[in-house]
This record gives sequence, structure tokens and C-alpha cells, in this order.
Amino acid sequence: MKKAIIIGAGIAGIASAIRLKNKGYQVQVLEKNAYPGGKLTQIHGNNFRFDAGPSLFTMPNMVAELFEICNKNPTDYFNYEQLDVLCNYFYEDGTRITAHADIDLFAAEIEQNTSDSASKVKQHLAKSKYIYNATEEQFLSKSLHKISSFLSFSTLRALIKFPFLNIFNSMNEVNEKAFKDSKTIRLFNRYATYNGSTPYKAPGILNIIPHLEFGLGAYLPKGGMHEITNSLVRLAKEIGVEFHFNQEVNSITTTKNIATSVVTASHKFATDVVICNADIHNVYEKLIPSAKKLKKVDKQERSSSALIFYWGIDKEFPELDVHNILFTEDYKKEFEHIFNSKTIYEDPTVYINITSKRIKEDAPKGKENWFVMINVPSVYGQNWDEMIATARKNILQKISKNLGVDIEDLIEFEEQLTPQLIQDKTYSYKGSLYGTSSNNRFAAFFRHKNFSSQFKNLYFCGGSVHPGGGIPLALSSAKIIDKLIR
Ligand code: FAD
Repeated sequence: MKKAIIIGAGIAGIASAIRLKNKGYQVQVLEKNAYPGGKLTQIHGNNFRFDAGPSLFTMPNMVAELFEICNKNPTDYFNYEQLDVLCNYFYEDGTRITAHADIDLFAAEIEQNTSDSASKVKQHLAKSKYIYNATEEQFLSKSLHKISSFLSFSTLRALIKFPFLNIFNSMNEVNEKAFKDSKTIRLFNRYATYNGSTPYKAPGILNIIPHLEFGLGAYLPKGGMHEITNSLVRLAKEIGVEFHFNQEVNSITTTKNIATSVVTASHKFATDVVICNADIHNVYEKLIPSAKKLKKVDKQERSSSALIFYWGIDKEFPELDVHNILFTEDYKKEFEHIFNSKTIYEDPTVYINITSKRIKEDAPKGKENWFVMINVPSVYGQNWDEMIATARKNILQKISKNLGVDIEDLIEFEEQLTPQLIQDKTYSYKGSLYGTSSNNRFAAFFRHKNFSSQFKNLYFCGGSVHPGGGIPLALSSAKIIDKLIR
């Protein structure tokens, strides 16, 4: 039986393991941490449970497919509910907008609270759907680095539509054309952060993202986001994938341009195929230092990172839902701080995720589990202690002002996740959440491919390679590799 080694038990590594096992390989997953999931994990404290990383779940079909290809019923392992409210938005002037999943309700809400009309919102979301339909198969489901991917009718169709996909304008330029109210523009510009970019540089084609929420739906797994990891690991183990935790891979051995084994501190694992879920930067820097460096990838700007406070809150807030955003007054300044001066803006946009709104076991009665996050730069040698202390004060002030209550008094549990910790825990280069940023109109083509041109049997999956970061795309990278390995 052919052997496959997967380096890393992030969501893409687990998905690749399931796919390779299903193909008939003997599969071993080597993970440096004591637990699976990488960024998709959870923490507990004082009877509160928090999802540690991702909080928004879209395209659940990508998870279900992994059970289906193994002839299992997904609902025997994993269940989720669709959210009827995507997000509650709070603005400095006191305006509140509820983003209902129902497009008619949402459009009416925008018309009521801004100077933009409901029909403009519907037009914008129709365009988002158009971009999705025109590009999904070509850009998200196939390798962009195989000639065969471009020799198909679907590619031709996508290329013909290129001029209509807003590639040559920034997301903000497109949104400023579509809407006149800065509140609506901010709301739609925010989607650039879903892959760690700035709307002022990322191409308008990223206006595909609202369709994922409004068209395809936003979901919350029963038991929390971490259940995605749990259920897939359960499936993987059932079909015979072997997991080795606390096994950091130090190098990949190659002979005549073929990867032959993977080396940890205590073992050497011989293999026929290597799939690397570790950040692509580390493959070239640490795992195969002799490999030809890909300067293009190294030069690319990293995506943003995150500063998160997990707060157990001794009160319930009916005005908050699962996803909540408290907007900055000046979005442009906030992104300039993140991507230009690599600092944190004094009035950051604050995201509050509260799973206990739907999962009652996540917080004691009468309390809530707040995951409070702001977008911050990746690690570039900043004085993080000072920046974090200031940001914490500013965040508390902003939330307290919006909700009319002193929040600090209500915090009975606290833990933090910083860019440096993200780097240390997952070896994500510079602690970026989504690999490289999309602050470039050709970013999709610059992401590292899913295979090595130098080593025949070496493949790459996960958020740092094509098609990109985020759970659905990381899962898609595993699917692309499945197609590449014949
Ligand atoms: P990772 O999760 O980074 O896993 C890589 C694994 O490889 C890790 O377990 C690591 O320990 C292991 N590893 C690395 N090097 C080695 C080595 N040498 N030897 C052995 N093991 C190694 N996505 C969404 O879809 N929705 C969201 O709402 C969302 N929000 C996010 C919020 C935060 C705070 C973060 C951090 C991420 C968020 N994301 C979100 C992004 C999403 O989490 C990632 O894109 C996705 O989980 C990446 O999975 P992955 O498999 O590529 O890598």
C-alpha cells in the first residue's frame, strides 16, 4: 500500500488525510501540537467555552462532502444551524443595522437607516452572485498552475466575463460607486477582512464574499466551530488515518528530486507522498532549505493578523447576536494603520462573537462568552505589550460607550490571543491569519501552487497556498490535491 505523510493537523491537513485514505493510501498525520485543528480549536475557563479562532462558518457542503466520499452520513457526525441574522452593526452616531440573512429584510433595513435604497443593495448582491458563479469553478476549485485547468469551456467562459468582475478597481472604489452612504460602504468594505486584506487595495472581485453569506448562508455548528475539527478527526480515525501528536517535522528528505521521508526529533517516516499543511514560508525556510526559493511568494505582503480577548461576561445583552460589529468612524485610517504603519488604530472596528446566544452550554446562566477581536498587523517587530495594553483600553471604552455599560466591571474570565501567539501555536508566518494578503489585483495568481515543481511527490494545502485562507478555501485546497494525485 502506498504511504502518505501529512505535515500538520490543521483543517486542510485533516481533509487531505481523509481524501488520501479514501484513495487507498496508508496515511499518517504528524502534528507538532498535542491537539488537532491548528487555528480551528477551542479554549475553556471558568465554565465558559470559546472557539479560539474561526467564528464564521460558510459553505458547510465542503465539510459534508468529506463524509459523503467515505460513504458516511454527515449528520451522524456533524450538525449545524443556519443563522437568520448574519451580523448586528453598530455605528458611532448610534445607528444600528441588522444584517438579516433574508435579502429583502436586509435591503429594507439599509433603506431605513442609510441614504441608500433597497434596490441598490439587491443589485449589489446580485452582482456578488454573478461574480461567484463566474469564478467559483475556475479560481476556487482547480489548480491555477496546470495548463489543463485553462483548456476548458468553463475557463473560457470565466475569461470572457473578466471585464465585468471588477478586477481593475479596488473593492472600495466599486462600493463607493454602488452606494452613497458611508455606513453602507463600510458594511460592504468589511468583507475584505474575511481574507485579511484592505478594501482600499484588494480588487473589487472580492465582492464575491457577501454572496457566501447572503446567497449561500452563514451557519453555526452545534457544539461550536471546534466541532468541525472534532467530527473530521473522528471520521479520519474511523477510516484508519493515524495521528501522531507532539511530532514536529524538522525536515523533508529528498533524493533525486523526490521527497522520500519526513524527519521528526524521534523518527524518520518513509513515504511515497508528502502533503504539507504547514505555512508554505516554513517549507522553504526550514523543512527543505535546499529547495529553490520562490522569491515571488516571499515578497508578498502578509494578510492581517488578529488580537482577541476571550471574556467571560457576567451579564446578558439582548441587543447583541452571535456576530456583532462596532464600526470605527474612519475605516481608511484603520487599514492604513494595519497595512502601512503596522500599528493599531486608536478607534478600531471591534468584532464580538457570542456563541452562547445559540449554544447555551457555552456560558453559565445569565452570562455570555465574548470573543472580542480587532484586525491588527502581522508581526514586524512591534512593541506588542504596549500596543495590546492601549488597544484593550480603547476596545473597552468603545464597547462600553455603544452599550451604555462599563464592560470591564463585568469581565470574570479573560484570556488573550495575539499575533505572536498565533505564530507560535500554528507556525503561521508572522502570525498572519490567511497567508498572504489579497491587496493586489493578481493576488489569486501569486499564491503558491498546490504542488512542487521541483519535487514530484510533494503537495501543499491550507490557508497559505492556493486558493487561499478561510475554512472553505483551505478545504478546497485538499480537494485540488485529491484531483492532482492520480
Ligand atoms: P492551520 O490551522 O494553521 O494548521 C496548520 C497545522 O500545521 C497546525 O496545527 C500546526 O501546528 C501544524 N504544523 C505547522 N508546522 C508543523 C511542523 N513543522 N510539524 C508538524 N506540524 C506542523 N476562517 C473562516 O473560514 N472563518 C472565520 O471566521 C475565520 N476567522 C479566523 C479568526 C482567527 C483568529 C484565525 C486565527 C483564523 C480565522 N480564520 C477564519 C482562518 C482559518 O482559521 C484558517 O484559514 C484555517 O483554519 C487554516 O487551516 P490550515 O489547515 O491551513 O492551517
